[in-house]
Amino acid sequence: MNADLRRLPAVHALMAMAPAQALAADYAHPVLLDALRERLAQVRRDLRHSNATVPFALDEFFAQVREDLQGQDRARLQRVINATGIVLHTNLGRAPLADEAIRAVREVTQGYSNLELDLGSGKRGGRGGQIEPLLRRLTGAEAALVVNNGAAAVLLALTTLAQGGDVLISRGELVEIGGGFRIPDVIRQSGASLVEVGTTNKTRLADYESALTEQTKVILKVHASNYRIVGFHSETPLEALAALGRAQGVPVMEDLGSGALVDLTRFGLPAEPTVAATIRRGADVVAFSGDKLLGGPQCGVLVGTEEHIARMGRHPLFRALRADKMTLAALEATLRLYEDETGLCASLPVLRMLTQTPAQLIGRARRLRRGLSPLPGLTVRVTDGVGYSGGGTLPETALPSKHVGVRSQTMTVEQIAEALRLRQPAILGMRADDWYVMDVRTVGDDEVGAIVAAFRALALNDDKER
Ligand SMILES: *Cc1c(COP(=O)(O)O)cnc(C)c1O
Repeated sequence: MNADLRRLPAVHALMAMAPAQALAADYAHPVLLDALRERLAQVRRDLRHSNATVPFALDEFFAQVREDLQGQDRARLQRVINATGIVLHTNLGRAPLADEAIRAVREVTQGYSNLELDLGSGKRGGRGGQIEPLLRRLTGAEAALVVNNGAAAVLLALTTLAQGGDVLISRGELVEIGGGFRIPDVIRQSGASLVEVGTTNKTRLADYESALTEQTKVILKVHASNYRIVGFHSETPLEALAALGRAQGVPVMEDLGSGALVDLTRFGLPAEPTVAATIRRGADVVAFSGDKLLGGPQCGVLVGTEEHIARMGRHPLFRALRADKMTLAALEATLRLYEDETGLCASLPVLRMLTQTPAQLIGRARRLRRGLSPLPGLTVRVTDGVGYSGGGTLPETALPSKHVGVRSQTMTVEQIAEALRLRQPAILGMRADDWYVMDVRTVGDDEVGAIVAAFRALALNDDKER
């Protein structure tokens, strides 16, 4: 065994060999060196731990190194074609940005910007440019503040308003949103105590009233964004809670989650409470995400009364949670699109995808089928299917869509799925029984060609292997 270990080539010797030199064309020297070193260390560990002598084979070794390096390539943040039909897919980066937002990020970041400069006076200014006035106009709130994500917004609000005191919340709203965001944990992290009110399915105003004490600092409502309680269920309307809060001098906050800025029913979509309506109904503070239905960059927005929002802006935690210039540029440009509501469905990708007509979906599905059908060994079909808005928004709302299904004579669904994931751009579809399925709602018209090219490459490779 020791002899085997001693016979292993040194890293510099491996580096000089032809297969390493071939890899050097694609990978920088330190990257390649690291990969050789790590794989060699693995071989040593294998030799030490196995009683049998494993012969060291150079070709196998370099094949492994190539695979390791390819694995690193795949881990890079990169483009993915979303063929799942889930518009706000958290694993795929939620909302794709509007062209205007992308342009704004580029403009503000390729040189310097007035991030904290008032160009009128030449003096230091607040961050956020026109975001606050835009948000005030769009929501009817007195003031607004932007942080890094929805979770940060809730944490900042509760820390500022409720630290050392109690937060009242209905037992029906003690939810987990996903990605480890649990409302009880966030309340604890803010330094406040959680006071559970009512029951899972019914919480009445009297439950809140009897739980209110001197210690109560915030009455919190959390929008049921990723689930619905059906059947024998009722919650206390926000108006009633707001009246109670006003009478007792306790702020009422709603974590809206997605928070639509416009009435989605106007576009034929299911109703989702708007931020403006939540403010009108009496919430003192509303928190929502920037990259869900709003269709902007990852960020969290807090809107509400001047008094409460100003306190949050002065809190030291805000400095740690504030959004960067790329986010602010993208958010401002996205919010500007809302000033022209009639053009919104065309300009905002999230809304554009959610509001596609059956004719548009069928058209794209047929184009994809036309591209795929001539490829050898494939069976292609178009069926009715359903997609979802995703990102914990519009739960239960199935969006009727068109699915393109593919079956191969030589590859299993898993093999197809893996091969497509490993392409550049990667393609992410679904499986339904033994069909590989793509929902065309989230596929761009300009992405159909790339999908066809990927399947063509699969078909050709397959031909070669046979
Ligand atoms: C999504 C969501 C959050 C978290 O927002 P992120 O932007 O993902 O941090 C918080 N509360 C509710 C109700 C949500 O739906």
